[in-house]
Amino acid sequence: MFDVDTDRTLVAAADLVNTSDGLRSATPGLDQLTTVTQLKEYLSARDPAMQWPVSGADRTQLEKVRDLREKVQRIWSAAPIESDAPVQVLNELLTGVGLRVARGSDGDYRAEPVPASKELVDVMTASVATAIQHLVVRDETARMRTCKGEGCDAVIIDLTRNRSRLFCDFGNCANRAHVRAYRARQAAHRKSFSTGADTASAAGHPVRHVGSHADTLESPRLVKPSAAEKAAQIEVPTSQSAVAAKEFRDRMRDELMEKREKKSAKKLKKDKKKAKK
Ligand SMILES: [Zn+2]
Repeated sequence: MFDVDTDRTLVAAADLVNTSDGLRSATPGLDQLTTVTQLKEYLSARDPAMQWPVSGADRTQLEKVRDLREKVQRIWSAAPIESDAPVQVLNELLTGVGLRVARGSDGDYRAEPVPASKELVDVMTASVATAIQHLVVRDETARMRTCKGEGCDAVIIDLTRNRSRLFCDFGNCANRAHVRAYRARQAAHRKSFSTGADTASAAGHPVRHVGSHADTLESPRLVKPSAAEKAAQIEVPTSQSAVAAKEFRDRMRDELMEKREKKSAKKLKKDKKKAKK
């Protein structure tokens, strides 16, 4: 979405926050950053190109990384950022971080953070703070979100072009939400059937040809939306093309869901037959 280094660091920052205890896809999770081994595990899961020194992990660094995590979490929970308090936290992290121009891992020149020292926590802080700074100055902090899944407080970084990511990768948050939405649509459909109303036209949504790359057809926006408005837009598709895209996705999911239900019903029948034998 941005550049490879920034994207990678933002993912690492979200992963860091998600090592905290909390609900992950309706399952309680323990703090995953309480031992040096766990810190090493977290670091080993990073792309080697990030060059976060795994060998630097020790008890002292663990405590400092936990402190970094807490600060990043504070910034994340304040997103979309529109006040100075989270920016102040970010500036604390940026203290002592320098800047130089270097080639990124894709070969392009860009501003690269120079950490205050070679200590693990300083290296991590410099890249995480710089990546978040990138979002703040571009008014893109609405991309720092919390999963929309029920009973889930995992954070996510949305690096999609059309800001469409809503769920984490921890469990089945997206699937559970789709099942709920499917049931709701089925119920609404039955209701509209009995009253004779057409849901699509009643909602003012013209039914469009399905399968076109609707996302690319969005009309140019004249007024720049605020970060909060951007976040709100994620929930409700505004343009016709976005509505069409959403309808298309919903229909695909419904078809998939119907297939699954039929399949499990068939299996149930089969199992019953078997039981009888
Ligand atoms: Zn989730």
